[in-house]
Amino acid sequence: MIDVHVHETGTRDGLQSVPFFVPTDVKKRWCSAEARAGVAEIEVCSFVPVKLLPQFADAAEVVEHALTLEGLTVAALAPNLKGTERAIELGVHKVNFVLSVSESHNRANVRRSTAESVSEFARIVELARSLPEGRRPKIAAGLSTALGCTIEGDVPEARVREIAMQLVAAGADELIVCDTVGYANPTVVRRLFRAIRSDVGAIPIKAHFHDTRGLGLANVLAALDADIRAFDASLGGLGGCPYAPGASGNICTEDLVFMLESMGLKTGVDLEKLIALRAEIQEALKGEPFHGTIAKAGLPKGFLKAA
Ligand code: ZN
Repeated sequence: MIDVHVHETGTRDGLQSVPFFVPTDVKKRWCSAEARAGVAEIEVCSFVPVKLLPQFADAAEVVEHALTLEGLTVAALAPNLKGTERAIELGVHKVNFVLSVSESHNRANVRRSTAESVSEFARIVELARSLPEGRRPKIAAGLSTALGCTIEGDVPEARVREIAMQLVAAGADELIVCDTVGYANPTVVRRLFRAIRSDVGAIPIKAHFHDTRGLGLANVLAALDADIRAFDASLGGLGGCPYAPGASGNICTEDLVFMLESMGLKTGVDLEKLIALRAEIQEALKGEPFHGTIAKAGLPKGFLKAA
């Protein structure tokens, strides 16, 4: 039994901010090695127009490869119906739709109001539900900027809860609540996740934290207090913010697994395999800053993973 689910998003959120094209072969090896290390779900790419994000020009090939990996849930990000159609055609297991809770961030990203994105989400659910059962992916709804926005600053909790409810009403199979720009702290995390949990009932909720200001793992602890049991993370903490050059990225997968396993929470992830993979990917992404501490410091003497 797994106590806490750790999902890799470095192949999407991490690579999104890497300024050069990473060879397809590296992306495939990354997915294979993560699956071998026991990571059960990977967000392998983003289905956005290639001219906006040339990094994902090879999305189809990477998805096709990931789908051959046994036991792996293959997820892909899509900000709209068109991207979702491409993802579904390829047979992904899960589509992570994303909108920004803050209006100006959503407009800057997808040139739509948040309400228009909620309507788009309803059309996506409709499309998924029209498919035969074996070909129907799960549709997750990501709430970007749920804990703060670089344009608007504070994002009111009431608005986040309202949009979460709208997405659930539209048919979300899962919510992903994101601190996209690393503004959160443990107090607001505990409060917001508890509130959303009580609003939406049994729907799975995943937390997506960035460590931009060093509070990523502290926020994970706070989310654990609110009974959140699934987290996105990025190998080597890749995924820096384009508006904050040099800033750290997503919470680091290796450090997250280390913390959880040390606390006696089973993740099913082999930390040594992950640390070996980190070295390999770091080599392939020469020059990109890698974050996190456990790979640099090494495991403590006598370290035992959760029994
Ligand atoms: Zn992110």
